[in-house]
Amino acid sequence: MGSLLIRNARVFAPDPLGVVHLLIGGGRILWIGTDDLALPHVLGTDVIDLEGRRLIPGLIDGHVHVTGGGGEAGFRSRVPPLGISRFTRAGVTTVIGLLGTDDVARGPRDLLASVYGLREEGLSAYAWTGGYHVPPATLTGSVRSDLVFIEALIGVGEIAISDHRSSQPTLDELLRIASDAHVAGLMTGKAGILHLHLGDGVRGLDLVRRALEASELPPRVFHPTHVNRRKALFDEALSLATRGSTIDITAFPVDEGEDAWSAADALLRYLDSGAPANRVTISSDAGGCLPCFDGDGHVTHMDVGDAGALLSTLAELVSRGVPLERALPAFTANPATLLRLPRKGHIAVGVDADLVALDEHGAAHDVIAGGVSHVRGGRIVRSGMFEGLPQG
Ligand code: ZN
Repeated sequence: MGSLLIRNARVFAPDPLGVVHLLIGGGRILWIGTDDLALPHVLGTDVIDLEGRRLIPGLIDGHVHVTGGGGEAGFRSRVPPLGISRFTRAGVTTVIGLLGTDDVARGPRDLLASVYGLREEGLSAYAWTGGYHVPPATLTGSVRSDLVFIEALIGVGEIAISDHRSSQPTLDELLRIASDAHVAGLMTGKAGILHLHLGDGVRGLDLVRRALEASELPPRVFHPTHVNRRKALFDEALSLATRGSTIDITAFPVDEGEDAWSAADALLRYLDSGAPANRVTISSDAGGCLPCFDGDGHVTHMDVGDAGALLSTLAELVSRGVPLERALPAFTANPATLLRLPRKGHIAVGVDADLVALDEHGAAHDVIAGGVSHVRGGRIVRSGMFEGLPQG
């Protein structure tokens, strides 16, 4: 891995730093400044001139079905695994993989193998242990020991509540899982949180509120996702955020007139609500299928979540007049803080060189993951073994 000089980058760290140069080496940001560096020829430093384009931290996607999700409409509805370029071309440089409805034909071994495969290809990848169901699918027999002993497992999820696909966990069952995650987080410095899938059910976040009332667990342990899928659920999530939980918005497609908020609408509502600006994250549900059910619980049609939904949500927010530095933390700094990934989610000397340069439309012009170029001038220059694209 050689050194890389990025010139004339308009940096949003997420805070704006103006137009600067950055020196990258050993996978980290070594220097940020405005001086013209005279680098010795022998280093063979690669140079990218961004000509004033915006440079942001690589996005952190906290909810990705890296193995492929699905399976709700027969075995053929199991979504295939995602290649690395599906993330890098979308500006995503860190993913948290997970299992969903299908935590029986797929399991933690498959999940971890996918996570380690993505790491070999240059992405930063971690996973939630478990899946929709209770008791959670684990590798070592318990959530606590999975998190304590397996480096890539940083929390538990997506345990499903208020959904017909859920195990319908009781309060005590939920508390046990949350406390296992919390204690493992204390022991290891990992996130140690319970990432909760919220379904369409009218019970909404009731179980989480009861868990907070019935226990000493800090609100940060509960991280509900898909909270924008119903407008009333989103209002519940806003009040949970004021109590100290971080809520996760999903960037799924929303139809006109649907009882749901698009990710852009939800984030705007969040930021305008006065809830703490750092307690909101946005994830893509990439690789997950987005099934629609009829009243009997049968699938009527199916879509697949795409990591590209994050950058397009960010671009939509900016086109609607939201300053980039206001929208950006939900995709970068906020998940880094919640997930306890201190070298991710911001641009500073010493942090991992995960960087995305945006073109004038807000698409990824250049993507650097761990100091290595994956997208250059809008073109994929590095991809996965089976993607049939350049392999760098
Ligand atoms: Zn889900």
